[in-house]
Amino acid sequence: MFRIVVDPDAGPCMGVKRAIEMAETELARSNQLYCVGEILHNTREMDRLVSLGLQTITPSGIGSLPGERIMFRSHGEPPETYQKARHAGAEILDATCPVVTQLQLLVRKSWLEMKKVNGTAVIFGKPDHPEVISLLGFADGKAQVINGINEAGLIDINRPVVLLSQTTMNRKEYHSLVKKIRHRMISCSIHADNLRVHDTICKKVSAREKGLKDFCRKHDLIIFVGGKHSSNSRYLFGTCHQVNRNSHWIEEPGEVESSWAANNSKTGITGGNSTPIWILNEVAATLQNMRQCI
Ligand code: SF4
Repeated sequence: MFRIVVDPDAGPCMGVKRAIEMAETELARSNQLYCVGEILHNTREMDRLVSLGLQTITPSGIGSLPGERIMFRSHGEPPETYQKARHAGAEILDATCPVVTQLQLLVRKSWLEMKKVNGTAVIFGKPDHPEVISLLGFADGKAQVINGINEAGLIDINRPVVLLSQTTMNRKEYHSLVKKIRHRMISCSIHADNLRVHDTICKKVSAREKGLKDFCRKHDLIIFVGGKHSSNSRYLFGTCHQVNRNSHWIEEPGEVESSWAANNSKTGITGGNSTPIWILNEVAATLQNMRQCI
């Protein structure tokens, strides 16, 4: 029987959804809001928010907006951006995800502890990711950022080390990194207490992979909707394809193929972390219309 199901776990994560809702509430009130950086990387969703009055600015643009309301997105900002906004007399609408706020505080605490014992705070993350830039700020710009397992050798294990991760990194890779550092420590006869590891990967992100695999197993055909340049979409589509070879990656409802509507298959529609549910519903409606024309 032909059936279309939109993945109930798809759509932006709690932190991004919360930021969008905060922006919508503010825009309904005042028709104007400035946000430091894009709330999410989805052109159509951004166009919708821009049409409501949202303007994206860079931190350097804050100074020219005295007295305005400025939003900080879910990724968070370093302390210097808060200072800049206060200095400009701007009103801050802080949409930093509560999970990221906790991590910022933990980075601060870890860095201060390491400073006292001549140790290092290491962040496993992408150096140019806004969340990592914010975290670095909470370590006075002095934490070391490790981008991948192959950089494990760059950590100075002769000094105390505290390891934390960007919330959206891959859990398996984080575990492999920890294993590799521990292995190095053992081979250099360094006491295990020299390394402290915090599990700071967002539970929502790691749970998504398992949920996505279950969803893909339950359907004959998968339509994955997400930006072709997004690394998150590439990773999640890879997960879909691993479980269900009949998975197809599109960016827009206009890319839906009529042959997908021709079979009596159970079709699952899912997407990347930046693809809003309303776009997935548009894909479902497009497929349903094609079915009716067969
Ligand atoms: S911490 Fe989790 S919920 Fe918060 S913004 Fe990051 S991925 Fe989303």
